[in-house]
Amino acid sequence: MPNTPPDYCPDCGGPLEAVDPPAVQRCGDCGEYEFFNPIPTARLAVLDSGGRSPPGSAAKPQDGEGVLLVNVDASDRDLWGTPGGMVEAGEDPDEAGARELQEETTLTVDPDDLALFDARTFAKFGDVQKTYLCYAADYADVSGTPEADDEVVDVRFWTAEELASADGHRLLTSWPEAYSDLEWWIDEGRAALDAR
Ligand SMILES: [Zn+2]
Repeated sequence: MPNTPPDYCPDCGGPLEAVDPPAVQRCGDCGEYEFFNPIPTARLAVLDSGGRSPPGSAAKPQDGEGVLLVNVDASDRDLWGTPGGMVEAGEDPDEAGARELQEETTLTVDPDDLALFDARTFAKFGDVQKTYLCYAADYADVSGTPEADDEVVDVRFWTAEELASADGHRLLTSWPEAYSDLEWWIDEGRAALDAR
């Protein structure tokens, strides 16, 4: 889905003039202000230190904390990211995080059990403005067994050490630098859960 500043006034089709680019433009014909806003997106770090990791994962409690990651690109099976997606109209961000987790992994979690640990706006793929809200969940508060759903190719827990030593496997890099570091998700997410 594109998310770039409008080229013409959506009300009358008139030309837009910069007021505070790229966030604010104004129509030269009808005078309406046009605002360009980021898309809110919820992401979920499901953390497991208790050994509930599913079959197929080499992660064990003694290896450190595991994070549930999904592979969403059938053409690149080594590329992993945290479950998540865009917040829908009428939906709270934590509800969006829980819904996306269920859609992608079949797991269910109460939005009240999520701990917000990071929020920032950045340009994904260079120009798509996103606001990410990052939540942590303890796997002990999550119900079900992770299974890849329609929009996901694979799902499993990884420890930071495991991912770093697995040949070619990596986190998505179109995100801010911190998001490409699995230890960041683990440390920040666990700190937020502990602070509840
Ligand atoms: Zn107009």
